[in-house]
Amino acid sequence: MLRCRRMASTYSRSASLQKYLVGQVIHGYEVCRVQPVPDLKLLAVDLRHAGTGSQHLHIDRNDSNNVFCIGFKTNAPDSTGVPHILEHTTLCGSQRYPVHDPFFKMLNRSVANFMNAMTGPDYTFFPFATTNSKDFNNLIEIYLDSTLNPLLTEEDFYQEGWRLEHNNVDDPSSALLFKGVVYNEMKGQVSNNDYFFYNKFQENICPSLQNSGGDPKFITDLAHQDLVDFHARNYHPSNAVTFSYGNLPLNGTLSKLDEFFTGFGKRSSSQGLSSPISLHNDIEVIESGQSDPMLPPEKQVKTSMTWICGPSNDLYNSFLLRIFSNLLLDGQSSVFYKKLIESGLAYEFSVNSGAESMGSKNLLTIGVQGADDINTFRSIVTDTFQGLLKYDFENSKVQAIIHQLELNKKDHKPDFGLQLLYSILPGWLNKTDPIELLKFDELLTNFKEDWRNNGSKIFHDLISKYILKKPCFKFTMTSKAQFNESLKIEEAERLAGKTGNLDETDKKTIFERNLILKDKQSKTEDLSCLPSLKISDIPKIGTFYPLNLDVTNRFMTRLTDTNGISYLRGKKELNNILPFELYQFLPLFADSLTSVGTSMEPFHKIEDEIKLSTGGISYSANVISSPTSLHPRLTFNFSGWSLNSKTDHIPRLWSKLLVETDFRQNKENLRILVKMLASSNLSTVSDSGHSFAKGYAAAQFNVTKAIDESLNGIKQLQLIMKLNKIVEENDDELFEKEMIEPLERIQKLITNNSNLKYFLISDSTSKLNEIKEEIIQKFEINLSKKVDLTTDKIQNYPLLPSYPHTLLSFPFQTYHTSRSLPIDIPYTHAETAALQILTNVMTSTYLHKEIREKNGAYGGGAAYDAVNGTLNYYSYRDPNPLASLDIFKAPTGNITVESVNEAKLRVFQDIDAPVSIRNEGIWNFDNDITDSMRQTRRLALLDVTKQDVDNALEKYILNDSNAVDVVLGPKTDEMNAGWNVIDI
Ligand SMILES: [Zn+2]
Repeated sequence: MLRCRRMASTYSRSASLQKYLVGQVIHGYEVCRVQPVPDLKLLAVDLRHAGTGSQHLHIDRNDSNNVFCIGFKTNAPDSTGVPHILEHTTLCGSQRYPVHDPFFKMLNRSVANFMNAMTGPDYTFFPFATTNSKDFNNLIEIYLDSTLNPLLTEEDFYQEGWRLEHNNVDDPSSALLFKGVVYNEMKGQVSNNDYFFYNKFQENICPSLQNSGGDPKFITDLAHQDLVDFHARNYHPSNAVTFSYGNLPLNGTLSKLDEFFTGFGKRSSSQGLSSPISLHNDIEVIESGQSDPMLPPEKQVKTSMTWICGPSNDLYNSFLLRIFSNLLLDGQSSVFYKKLIESGLAYEFSVNSGAESMGSKNLLTIGVQGADDINTFRSIVTDTFQGLLKYDFENSKVQAIIHQLELNKKDHKPDFGLQLLYSILPGWLNKTDPIELLKFDELLTNFKEDWRNNGSKIFHDLISKYILKKPCFKFTMTSKAQFNESLKIEEAERLAGKTGNLDETDKKTIFERNLILKDKQSKTEDLSCLPSLKISDIPKIGTFYPLNLDVTNRFMTRLTDTNGISYLRGKKELNNILPFELYQFLPLFADSLTSVGTSMEPFHKIEDEIKLSTGGISYSANVISSPTSLHPRLTFNFSGWSLNSKTDHIPRLWSKLLVETDFRQNKENLRILVKMLASSNLSTVSDSGHSFAKGYAAAQFNVTKAIDESLNGIKQLQLIMKLNKIVEENDDELFEKEMIEPLERIQKLITNNSNLKYFLISDSTSKLNEIKEEIIQKFEINLSKKVDLTTDKIQNYPLLPSYPHTLLSFPFQTYHTSRSLPIDIPYTHAETAALQILTNVMTSTYLHKEIREKNGAYGGGAAYDAVNGTLNYYSYRDPNPLASLDIFKAPTGNITVESVNEAKLRVFQDIDAPVSIRNEGIWNFDNDITDSMRQTRRLALLDVTKQDVDNALEKYILNDSNAVDVVLGPKTDEMNAGWNVIDI
């Protein structure tokens, strides 16, 4: 029996404590405190840099996925997005690394599994994660030099922030436009309704936070000098905190930090904590936003009520509020779900709902979207809180929350270090002691005792202290039909304002400046100053995850240290079972199992049971291609995980939900589900428009992708819209026919015990055997033996009609584009390796430059899906989609021995990224990709030569007459004639 080999035996508390002595000075840093946190198997070391006063937190933990981060407190002075634009431009070149964009270049010279930079409301941070120690040291230097000694040139500012540029950069007579990476990134954000609502909410309740990301309206007020000044004020070690995590020695990190910090001196940091507005009376704010074409006109309102609930640095109070918010809003058995959603008053909770810390205060918000009666909403909320004063919260619900928190802590996460960083950094940069933030267990223990002694009184006190008869912030967003047009008009007027008064000299300056920028972007540089890993640093042998397959060929098992948890998965192949017309109902079927309820029990009761006994139960429908033949395979998947002592609940719940869910009896819940899905559609598309465009393109030539499009693409959105219309029109008969009948048919066709397979992960052979028995006895026994087959052969699933150019019309500010082409070879084909490298070379040496830097889109590149046999060029938040499509026509890239090697490093960042225990070996179960296939492909990738890549380009890419273009975004005259325009 394997027992905690990975963690317990190697975590020796006393040995670790001796490693760090309080008062000890290491490279200019004094060890101030050493705090073991046994429940997270870590030791926290708090250090202070004498020269600058900068604080470093080191988390010593036996985890090879090491993390480093430098973070700065950056209060935004206005809404020009200066902290965000600075976050981008610091990474564009520094004193030691004076090359263009060393950050992006390092993506090709490292095996880091995470490199990023992020701007929060009042802080900016730069984290990375890698398992390679040489890489760790390389990247620390890049990160420190980039942030502390950046070049911040004018060209970088124009490229990343904003600029005026001729539509055709070589033609001074063409129209001037606003361009810039952040400018388009933020224009794209505005198209996300949820983001826009939250942002306006934050701007109104906490105006001092400003808009740190930047409001496109004000971004164009920012000047290069403002950026330089902001950097000088804020990116100073005294205004910074640094963080390291993992199993690498602290010494090296501190020595690097000391080297960079020396010479900066000590400064006092004067940046205070932002506070929400003071509420003396109720305040009401109404804003307008974009209307959602996927929702009925009368269901567009989002509205919320917010109370200020004490200081955010009172950690126990903050923790209590989160538990309280969970009881109020989480799941179908929660208080407000019943009152606001189940009652039909609204579609869904608004995104600002729940407890959160904003600046110095905690907030509690109850909000909804899709409500047509704001007054009723408000009186229900107030009456409900009034009623809760006398309500006894059930012990089982509180225990379920505690169970979830404890289970979540035991569950292995490959990015534990990053998660820990995210959880402490915002508070830490706002003066909360990071060591206190790590003592999660103490909070939980206190709460358990508090609950035992005081019961519901804890929550009654919160209501009387902060909510009832206390001032409330009421925020509402209504939709404005011409909202997008008004933004366009505003932009056009602003552009006219900036260009109207330009004289010939100004125009000449702008024209020449952009030529200089273009020239700089196109130049090939000497990158020898940048450190790099070598191909020889990548191990030839990948990680194997040994699995066992039992004699029946049905149970795949994996024995490993799971920290006392078991992970169960099952799947049923549907290839010959479902008729085509039912495919698109599979996602709804899967979702409804965990939201509808059975004939015996309402779902909220089952939900309590799930939370008390497991970490979660889920169902999904998936389609993948065979790794040896590209043949599509449709499966229905189900999973669950729990403590070893509770595994028997999982097959029992699988059976209950799959077999006993009663759609007809619980059709009210089905209606709610449809409304909830409809209300989040538009935000999903605005965030991943390039995926929708890509899917829609590939569905025109690839059967797997055509099925996937029905399950997860535009067709699925259209189905939900159609069903939502039926729900809104209260047409009961039609609802039964269009919704309930297909779900009942699926249920009947799939609840039989043919073609079932399982994948079990646990930490003892006896437990694995026990689970097998439980599955047979508690799940399979309830399935029928009779199987009905269909004549619909999956390989004949209809493709989408093919058009060279399609526009998917959505009311956004920017576009997403995709140009896709078929690559008809399966995963195990020898040439997939060269294609994988090729798309990486094209992206890093050509497309990134053209699409992001020159064309001003937020992102772009080429991606090869070796499993499903498609290749796709894409752009994300793109102001100029037709120019991008032109660029995709001749996407050569600079194929050299060096760029091929860099691409290999980049490909292996993904391949070798640590995986969670629950996902070890998952390719084998989900995709039939064995460890030996992965190893063969690994060697093929390592062996790819420049010649192979040249050949792949010649054979598969040039003369791609089968390519299909799809653009997603607003309609224009240019995309009309000759275009297949799909109105959503
Ligand atoms: Zn950004």
